[in-house]
Amino acid sequence: MKNRTLRTGDRQLIRDINMSLVVNAIRQHGPISRVDVARATGLGRSTVSGIVGMLLKEEFVREIGSGHPDSTSPAVGRPPVMLEFNPRSRFVVAVKLAPASITAAVTDLDANVVGLAERPISARLSEGAVRQQISEAVYAVVSDCRISMDRVIGVGVAVPGIVDSRTGVSISPQFFLWQNLPIRNLLEEEFGVPVFIDNDANAATLAEKLRGHGRQVSDFVCVTIGIGIGAGIIIDNKLYRGAVAGAGEIGHITIQEDGPECACGNRGCLEVFASDAALVREMKLMVESGCSSVITRIAAEENRGIDRPMIARAAKEGDDAALCVVRQAGEHIGVGLAMLVNTLNPEMIVVAGEAAMDFGNLLLEPIRDSIRRRSLSVLAQRLEVVESRLGDMIWIVGAASLVIDDFFGAPIYERHEHVAAVSIPDLMQGS
Ligand SMILES: [Zn+2]
Repeated sequence: MKNRTLRTGDRQLIRDINMSLVVNAIRQHGPISRVDVARATGLGRSTVSGIVGMLLKEEFVREIGSGHPDSTSPAVGRPPVMLEFNPRSRFVVAVKLAPASITAAVTDLDANVVGLAERPISARLSEGAVRQQISEAVYAVVSDCRISMDRVIGVGVAVPGIVDSRTGVSISPQFFLWQNLPIRNLLEEEFGVPVFIDNDANAATLAEKLRGHGRQVSDFVCVTIGIGIGAGIIIDNKLYRGAVAGAGEIGHITIQEDGPECACGNRGCLEVFASDAALVREMKLMVESGCSSVITRIAAEENRGIDRPMIARAAKEGDDAALCVVRQAGEHIGVGLAMLVNTLNPEMIVVAGEAAMDFGNLLLEPIRDSIRRRSLSVLAQRLEVVESRLGDMIWIVGAASLVIDDFFGAPIYERHEHVAAVSIPDLMQGS
């Protein structure tokens, strides 16, 4: 590895366990008084005051409300000074690499988008061009937002396919031609700040955990449906990645043993039946057999070949053939998800991705029906299947979440501490 200096000062500060407890208490419960921070964290009041002083100096938190700003014990009857998290004290750069485009954004520390730019790329993007293309997109958006890279705590990158997030290597990106590309190293050399990369479905799942439906539940699956089909799995509030970072590749679950060949080499994978390409293939078959005149009219109006948005338009106009294509895809996806329900018993499945946005309930309802029919009823009864509310920002919020989740290290950090406190004999007794 080349010699490089990463600016990790802010991150080191938050890595202190007490600092982490205090800043997370203020993030989660703010506006909150110092006394209540002490109560929530179990730390002494003077410890809390010292830490809050540092956080104020670094602008991670700010004081609001009345009272003496420099007093930690306000006079009787005077409301205490309240503390709140300041999400604009630092920024995050989020990048989504898609088969035909790079999206780069600046977000605040709550993953709210401050600025965003999308530019087209070729799926034949060479290994050598990846660093340049990403850097150009990032520098453009950072400059548009008038932010210095000194205020950026890290860069998060969401990439399709298999990604080893620990080493930052894009192992097998599915839509691109490279293999084993060390994207994290390349970008850390470029930007001089910590870089985090993960599979796009995992990033979307973290977005749901930070900003979406996942805030309410500790065990859930987020499935993303569009060009490909993937899923991220949260177990006990933590993203489960698996042995070679391939957990959640549900697009390649076999749903028909002797089905058509898939790009992965297997036969009858879920993606063969329910990805964008599958929808378009089925729709064309319907047109050829004379089942849909609506889609032919729409294709003529929009002057392009049949695609997913067109099928969505036809379905919403009530075209039986389009509705049938969408329903079939939903039923197939439900078959794949039912396997996850019986294996993982999640509380919730969040359905996200471009197809979920285009079709909404037309896709959700057959997914729900199919899961209900094909998983154990006691598990299905307790399961909620909901549509993501994050829309097409899910990828950017997810890429930003990779950085934010690491920076504040909660709740995973606390959980590690908790696990470390359990001795080995305790664990053996429990088993
Ligand atoms: Zn496959």
